[in-house]
Amino acid sequence: MPVVADDGTPPPPSAASPLRVAVIGAGPAGIFAADALTRQSDVPVAIDLIDRLPTPFGLVRHGIAPDHPKMRAIRDTLHRSLDHPLVRFVGNVEIGTDITLDELRRHVDAVVYTYGAALDRQLGIEGEDLPGSLAATEFVSWYCGHPDADRERVESALAGARSAVVVGVGNVALDVGRVLARTAEELEPTDMPQHVLDALAAAPIEEVTVLGRRGPAQATFTTQELRELDGLADATVLVDPAELELDPGSEERAAADRNVSRNLAVLRGWTDHSATAGRVRLRLRFFRRPVRLLGTDRVTGVEVERTAVDGDGRAMGTGELEVVPADLVVRSVGYRGTPLPGLPVDERSGTVPHEAGRVLRDGRPSPGEYVAGWIKRGPTGVVGHNKHDARETIAGLLADAADGTLRVRGPVDDLVETLQAGGAEPVLLENWRAIDAAEQSLGATRGRARTTMHEREALLAAARAAAAAQS
Ligand code: NAP
Repeated sequence: MPVVADDGTPPPPSAASPLRVAVIGAGPAGIFAADALTRQSDVPVAIDLIDRLPTPFGLVRHGIAPDHPKMRAIRDTLHRSLDHPLVRFVGNVEIGTDITLDELRRHVDAVVYTYGAALDRQLGIEGEDLPGSLAATEFVSWYCGHPDADRERVESALAGARSAVVVGVGNVALDVGRVLARTAEELEPTDMPQHVLDALAAAPIEEVTVLGRRGPAQATFTTQELRELDGLADATVLVDPAELELDPGSEERAAADRNVSRNLAVLRGWTDHSATAGRVRLRLRFFRRPVRLLGTDRVTGVEVERTAVDGDGRAMGTGELEVVPADLVVRSVGYRGTPLPGLPVDERSGTVPHEAGRVLRDGRPSPGEYVAGWIKRGPTGVVGHNKHDARETIAGLLADAADGTLRVRGPVDDLVETLQAGGAEPVLLENWRAIDAAEQSLGATRGRARTTMHEREALLAAARAAAAAQS
C-alpha cells in the first residue's frame, strides 16, 4: 500500500506498490504495449491486459487470413509476452458493459487504449444494403471464426455465388479475393472453422473482380501479397494491359516508390495470362468507381463509372458507366475506429486525439490516459508497426511516472475480484490456455494443427472446464 507523504503526495511506484496499468485490447498493439512496460525496470508496474473476447491476439486471430500461417505465427511471440509474470490477461470483459471506464480508472493508475478499429467503412451508394452485399470486416470475421460474425448473413450471401466483386485494392481486398479463389484443398489445412471451409467449398465461384477506383500506381496493396495471387492452385489472375498505361503523375509515383514500381512489374507480368486457365478468373481492374449496386431481392451487379486520375492522383469521373455482374459484393474500403463510452474520438479519422500517445481531452494531455495501435494512428500498417507505435506511447507513460505526473493512487480492490463480484466472468491466462488446448484438439480430429472455435459459449465452456479443474 503506498504511504502518503506529509504533504499528501503519494510516493512514486515501488515493488510493493507498483503502478497499475490497464491495457484495453489484447491485440498486437495492446500486447506490444504490455511488453514494452515489462522490458524496463525504472518504474515497477502491474499490468491488466483486458479484452472483450475470451481470447487474446485481436486481428492476429481474427484478421490475418488463415491461409497466411507464417504471418499468424506471430501469435507465438505475442504469447510469450502474455506469459510474463507482470502481465495478467483479463478476457471476456467489455468496458461499458461489465465495468464502466470511470470504474476501471478508479482501479488503476493509468489506462492504455489499444482496442483497434473494428468497424467497417461504407461506400454510401444505393443498393449497398442489398442481400449479397457485405463489408470485408464481416467476411473476414466470418472466415476467421470471430464469435460475433453473422454466419447466416455471410453464408446466404456466399451461397450460390458464381461471380464476386471486391471493392478496394488494399491488402484486405487481396485477402478476400484470394480466399474466394482458393480451392477446398488449399484451405483444408488452415484453422478456419469447419462450417467456413464447407461454405467456401460449396460456393461455385468462377469469377472474382477486385476493383480499384484509381489506377494501379495508387493501389495500396503490397507486392508480396500481390505476387501471391499468381501461386493459387486453380485460379488465373487477369489484368488488362491498357489499365497499366501510366499518366505522368503515376510515372513519377512509380519512380519514387519501390512498392509501386514492383507492383507494376508484377501486374505487367500477368497481362498475357489466358482467361481459360483455371476454375476461377481473378481479375484486377482499375479506374472504376462503384456508383450503385444493382438488384432487387439481392445483388446482381455493380454499376461503375470509369475514372481517370488527375496530377495529384485523385480519381475523376468520366461519366462513362458500365456494369460488372456480381452475385456477391464485398466492400473492402478500410476499417474505422469505434468510440469507447467516455473516451473522446475524432469523428473524421475514427481515432482518439493524442499527442505522442498521450490522450488529449479538450486539447490537453489527460493524466493517466494513453493510446496505441489503430485507434491511435488509424487502420494502416502491418502487425510489426504496432511495436514502434506502442513503444512511443509507453515511453510517454514512463516519463509521466518518472516526473510524478502519474502516481499510485492508494489501495484499491483487485480488478478481477470486483468484476467477478459484479457478475462478469473474466477469462484469465490459464483459462485461455484451456481454450487453446481445446482448439488444438479440435484441429487434430481432422489432422490440422488447430481449428478456431467460433462460438463464445464453446470458448467459455472450455475456459470454465479449466477453472473447475483448478478449484
Ligand atoms: P487500405 O490499404 O486503406 O485499402 C482501402 C482501399 O479501399 C483502397 O484501395 C481505397 O482506395 C479503397 N477505397 C476507399 N474508399 C473507397 C470508395 N468509396 N470507393 C472505392 N474504393 C474505396 O486498407 P485495408 O486493405 O483495409 O488494409 C488496412 C491495413 O491493414 C493496411 O495497412 C494493410 O496493408 C494492412 N493489411 C496487411 C495485410 C498483409 O500484410 N498481408 C493484410 C491485410 C491488411 P483509395 O486509395 O482510392 O482511397
